[in-house]
Amino acid sequence: MGLHRFFVEELGAARIILDDTEAHHAIKVLRLQVGTSIELFDGKGNVSIGTIDSMTKRELVVTAQPPRFEPRDSLDRIRFAVSLPKGDRQRNTVEKLVELGVDRLTPLHTERSVAEIDHSNRDRLIRYALESCKQCRRNRTMRVEETQNISQLRQFLKSEEAKDLDSWVLHPAEQLMTVHTGISLSNRYYDAPAKKLLFIVGPEGGFTNSEVSLLLASGANQLSLGDRILRVETAVSVAATLASIWIRA
Ligand code: SAH
Repeated sequence: MGLHRFFVEELGAARIILDDTEAHHAIKVLRLQVGTSIELFDGKGNVSIGTIDSMTKRELVVTAQPPRFEPRDSLDRIRFAVSLPKGDRQRNTVEKLVELGVDRLTPLHTERSVAEIDHSNRDRLIRYALESCKQCRRNRTMRVEETQNISQLRQFLKSEEAKDLDSWVLHPAEQLMTVHTGISLSNRYYDAPAKKLLFIVGPEGGFTNSEVSLLLASGANQLSLGDRILRVETAVSVAATLASIWIRA
């Protein structure tokens, strides 16, 4: 097994103090001892090996080697906008996105969304992402943006920032709009690596027809992952896997 990993705000100093929840976890839960090697990461892509020098009940003093920059993400090339499910499934969705290297998550508010993501919920998503980084050894965490609704997402799709982005609305095949040609998983591939990708995933109740039409009219393409209805977590995992193939990450 690899070294236990801890999150610190700042790497670079030779002597680093872990406190609060990270220290509690190391001391009370893992019962680590002085002399144990651990890994420290800052969520910005840096990682450093450290050795526990001393500890009190609440604090851990670590001698850290100079950090290396090893983000282990997809280098700002894969984004997702997702209408998140509730409860544990929300955590699960964030974990899949982080494990599969997605750079940014924008929580999406749609007509049939079941979970409202406000400021405090967003902080929780940010924490889930960091926890997942510990587990999957990713050193740069996934950015979690402010919630957007469909019209804000449309504005973004038409903006300068979205110029080099290929956007895909995930929508099951049986509901293909007659005015747009849906593209199924098997007949779309990139000859050259795609630059940047955005996947837009709907709520458990699905996008409404008008939401899909509006997104397609703003430059997004439709992507069907086949004729079975996937859970949000599954759709996200398949699309993120596809993304890593399309960008050759
Ligand atoms: N009852 C809804 C299903 C929603 S599933 C409907 O029929 O539209 C939740 C979301 O996952 C969908 O909005 C879509 O973005 C994605 N999804 C699920 N299954 C999919 C599939 N086969 N192809 C493409 N996207 C899918």
